[in-house]
Amino acid sequence: MVKKNDINKSALKVNKGIDQPSQINENAVKKITNRVKPQLKIDDYINGILDGNRTILSRAITLIESSLFEHQKLAQQIIEKCLPYSGKSLRIGITGVPGVGKSTFIEALGKHLTSSGHKLAVLAIDPSSERTKGSVLGDKTRMEELSVDKNAFIRPSPSAGSLGGVARKTKETIILCEAAGFDIIFIETVGVGQSEITVHSMVDFFLLLMLAGAGDELQGIKRGIMEMADAIVINKADNDNLLKAKLAKREYENALHLYPPTESGWTPVVDTCSAINNDRIVNVWEIITKYIALTKNNGYFDKNRRDQSVKIMYETINESLKNSFYSEKNIKKLLDEFENDILNNKISSYVAAQKLLEIYFNKKKIDYK
Ligand code: GDP
Repeated sequence: MVKKNDINKSALKVNKGIDQPSQINENAVKKITNRVKPQLKIDDYINGILDGNRTILSRAITLIESSLFEHQKLAQQIIEKCLPYSGKSLRIGITGVPGVGKSTFIEALGKHLTSSGHKLAVLAIDPSSERTKGSVLGDKTRMEELSVDKNAFIRPSPSAGSLGGVARKTKETIILCEAAGFDIIFIETVGVGQSEITVHSMVDFFLLLMLAGAGDELQGIKRGIMEMADAIVINKADNDNLLKAKLAKREYENALHLYPPTESGWTPVVDTCSAINNDRIVNVWEIITKYIALTKNNGYFDKNRRDQSVKIMYETINESLKNSFYSEKNIKKLLDEFENDILNNKISSYVAAQKLLEIYFNKKKIDYK
């Protein structure tokens, strides 16, 4: 047995060793921290954007998409400063069900535009992208040529929850892209729901891509969406599909005749194209330019832009009030109680709503005192 005094002689004794080197390589840390992007000042953002610097533009858009308060504050300042330089582009909405050929079409038309001296930004609105981790419209393999074109800028959909939130970020991104000198903006959305109504509210021209042979229901296109379209283009009009596409064109033309005249004074056009063969893509662009010429001439173009801006103000107010109400701590707690009371017939829905609103506005009064 080892006596207490002999402990120092025992093999069990742990000698104090030499100081071990840190497990972290300090030199590497220094290198990495030097590599971390330096914080940009507001003027760096503004000058970069106005210079057309795409890296800085991307970083500013990332601020818009961030939910951090500090980022939002900075983003709003940048947007404010960019506003006077915005508004000069053509904003074109492109919709259609997945698989209709949106990215192939955008690649074909986009290359035509950049090669004729235009600067094109392609933005996307896909509120489902959080679920699918951005794969629907954010897939890197889409628009391969356009994504390396120095006159094109492609930004996938912000992957944040509500459609309202995604839409607001896209509208703000449009402002920055315009300030950066992009004169044509495509806003792409998957034509399966509410998002095309949102896109329609922020563009000058709305293009619906369709397929021949698949029924409207199959394509998930509601009548309302067709009614919003300034042009319906039937894609994949090639090979065995060509005849079907021509027939579909006639059918859609007949259907459109039944719609009421548009406020813009424009009669919506139906055409066919083959995005993959680059066939009749230029025709689609001609349709768009004709529309722009007509509506600029009759005043609708500017009126529509003004109406859209006013609408954005109301939407922002609605969205902010809603967020403020539902994020109020007290309200959050009370909502469950009131819900239960409604379910147990203790209170009517209207009285419950009224009471909650009163509580909310009284709380705000106290906050502002
Ligand atoms: P998106 O999901 O609407 O963006 O559709 P994509 O552009 O990814 O196209 C879906 C599929 O249709 C791809 O396999 C394309 O190659 C094909 N495609 C796109 N345009 C055409 C076309 O004009 N003709 C034919 N035959 N195929 C096409």
